Amino acid sequence: MKKLKHLTLCAALLASFAGVTPAQAQKEQVVQDGIAVKPLSRVRVLVPEEQMNEAAAQQYREMLSQAQQKGALVPATDPQTKRVRGVAQRIIPYAPRWNANAKKWNWEVNLFDSPQVNAFCMPGGRIGVFTGIVNQLKLTDDEMAAIIGHEVAHALREHGRERTAKSGITSMVARGAGALGAAIFGIDPNITNTVTGMIGQGVVLKFSRDEEREADLVGLDIAARAGYDPRAGIALWRKMAMLNKGAPPEFLSTHPGGETRIRDMEEHMNVLLPLYARSKNVPVNRLPPYRTNVAIR
Ligand SMILES: [Zn+2]
Repeated sequence: MKKLKHLTLCAALLASFAGVTPAQAQKEQVVQDGIAVKPLSRVRVLVPEEQMNEAAAQQYREMLSQAQQKGALVPATDPQTKRVRGVAQRIIPYAPRWNANAKKWNWEVNLFDSPQVNAFCMPGGRIGVFTGIVNQLKLTDDEMAAIIGHEVAHALREHGRERTAKSGITSMVARGAGALGAAIFGIDPNITNTVTGMIGQGVVLKFSRDEEREADLVGLDIAARAGYDPRAGIALWRKMAMLNKGAPPEFLSTHPGGETRIRDMEEHMNVLLPLYARSKNVPVNRLPPYRTNVAIR
């Protein structure tokens, strides 16, 4: 697994981003209740959104067709697919408040039959969930919402686009989606390898710890608004840690730092629980405790 050498952006380019007018700055500033975030990275605009989304669409199509050929695409009629789609469909309406462009995205949700403990959301709203994460973690709907929210948050906060811009592979985007590989989307290549046998381009961009933290919190914010208990995020990561006592699952290799993340989520429950309570139309102190479906040590 080759890692792309991170290129330093030239000073002139950075300087051009410094010259932002107040009107532009205001436009980018979205007032939020719930989890607070910084404005989206300006560097990301080096990669045109359309190209990014087109590249993702092509990659997703290829992944679907390869999975289908191998019988690894769980059919739409399967109750598991219906369940994953049901959770995603409740979450998606809350996406545009985090990124107005999400209104125009072509949202798609598919379940891939693979033991990988992982999920993803590509730029432009193309979601993939692996049966491994659903089954091995025995996900409740709230926990599934925490996962889908997390992945959707990466896309809404445009982490993949930012990474692509920062790593100087914009010319590859310009040359066409085929040259890209799934790597620019922050997907662990082992996942797509298992499911589709693709990749091989070797460019691997993992999300940073800060991006993971943001995806956790924004993901739970979205899930809470959609009526899913944000405390499920904590249960989820505890389950993840339990699973990790055996062989480390892929999600942990791409999503590190279990204990810190749990602490971060706990520290933000004062912001997240009111969103959930509001969606349930009850005061916070009337919310029943969150109970997962397995004993958590
Ligand atoms: Zn992540």
